[in-house]
Amino acid sequence: MAEHDVRFLRLQFTDILGKNKNVEVPASQFEKALDGEMMFDGSSIEGFTRIEESDMLLKPDYNTFVIFPDEIEDASRGRVARLICDVTYPDGTPFEGDPRGVLKRQIERLKQLGFDSMSAGPEPEFFLFLRDEEGLPTIETHDQAGYFDLAPIDKGEEARRDMVNVLVDMGFEIEAAHHEVAPGQHEIDFKYADALETADNIATFKFVVKRVALLHGLHATFMPKPIAGINGSGMHTHLSIFKNGENAFYDPKAEYQLSRTALNFIAGLLAHAPGMVAITNPLVNSYKRLTPGYEAPTNIAWSASNRSAMIRIPARRGVGTRAELRMPDPSTNPYLALAVMLAAGLDGIEKDLLPPPSIQRNIFSMTVRERRRHKIKELPGTLREAIVALEKDEVIKEALGEHIYHHFIQAKRLEWEDYRITVHDWELDRYLSEY
Ligand code: ADP
Ligand code: MG
Ligand code: MG
Ligand code: MG
Ligand code: MG
Repeated sequence: MAEHDVRFLRLQFTDILGKNKNVEVPASQFEKALDGEMMFDGSSIEGFTRIEESDMLLKPDYNTFVIFPDEIEDASRGRVARLICDVTYPDGTPFEGDPRGVLKRQIERLKQLGFDSMSAGPEPEFFLFLRDEEGLPTIETHDQAGYFDLAPIDKGEEARRDMVNVLVDMGFEIEAAHHEVAPGQHEIDFKYADALETADNIATFKFVVKRVALLHGLHATFMPKPIAGINGSGMHTHLSIFKNGENAFYDPKAEYQLSRTALNFIAGLLAHAPGMVAITNPLVNSYKRLTPGYEAPTNIAWSASNRSAMIRIPARRGVGTRAELRMPDPSTNPYLALAVMLAAGLDGIEKDLLPPPSIQRNIFSMTVRERRRHKIKELPGTLREAIVALEKDEVIKEALGEHIYHHFIQAKRLEWEDYRITVHDWELDRYLSEY
């Protein structure tokens, strides 16, 4: 930091709902911060602590050190760096309400079972909307382009390039950046990494995308379904497990060249899909994306060949053998999302679960009867159904831990209740004149 004239250090973490939080300290406090002695008041953070036990410590993970590029942090008052932190009690024991700690616990479980790591590669999608004269976000887009379109360069494309540049400066390896199906919708894919690093990356990614959009006078949103009738934003997540330096999902001699470990993991994801969807798709609005006809899954199935299933197995084999989980959306808390995916997959491995046969057909074109014959169940259709399913899933509850489970469920019940008692525009349009 001295070498690069860093004057401010941001100590970052996320709350239970996945919001990025930070405490910024000036140079005089660097020693203390690096030693993990920075105290903060946890009672002001969503779902963190009761008032009487509010003092928390931030323990920085040195692997996460980055200096913010000048494009997003004006260096005229001194450079700004960040460290992502674990949250502990004053005596150093991990705080149960820290989502990063929840993920670390599952990674520990994975190691206990003799594996090296879980690799995760996300494909976050987002919309870029115009702001009005007062700077408030609208739902108007600046373009009419579609999937992979080569439109005349517009504000959105410019902003996306700047996002990629900043992310590369911050150490991301960007694999692809493209326009998505809907107007104003974009996707930026970055290279997979170990689950913890990927969760950190997703948190950083959201911050950078929003920040760069703002610098272009735009609003970036990770809201899953901002506009009815067109595709929503998902965050497909590619998963694989490594053992002794090799991809443990790959078995050249097996059917589909998928190992028993891969089948176990897929079976675990299928078995716990209802229970984890409240975490991977946490908003009332998330379930407006999970509807037929917009490339988002609504059924609990896997397929070695097509994209209508909740789990797809991409064609790549060898080190790239992986399962793509297609229901998550980018409003999820990345730490909790990867933790419950891992918990579900590990449960499949521990219990040696096997999945039903892979579905080769487009599920959306099957009749209800055909789906029943293939024993394809539906994903929860609302946040309320998802909450109920989570309450019944002991494996997912255990993974979250009592503290986070309790606060999460409480927050989500309130959110649902608030939605339920609100009279929406749809109801006025439909009923006001008619009744
Ligand atoms: P799609 O075909 O669904 O659009 P992409 O090619 O855009 O998928 O995204 C692939 C993602 O999968 C990237 O993030 C990539 O780094 C990641 N990936 C590649 N190999 C693995 C692996 N073995 N385990 C987990 N993720 C992987
Ligand atoms: Mg993609
Ligand atoms: Mg792709
Ligand atoms: Mg996409
Ligand atoms: Mg995908």
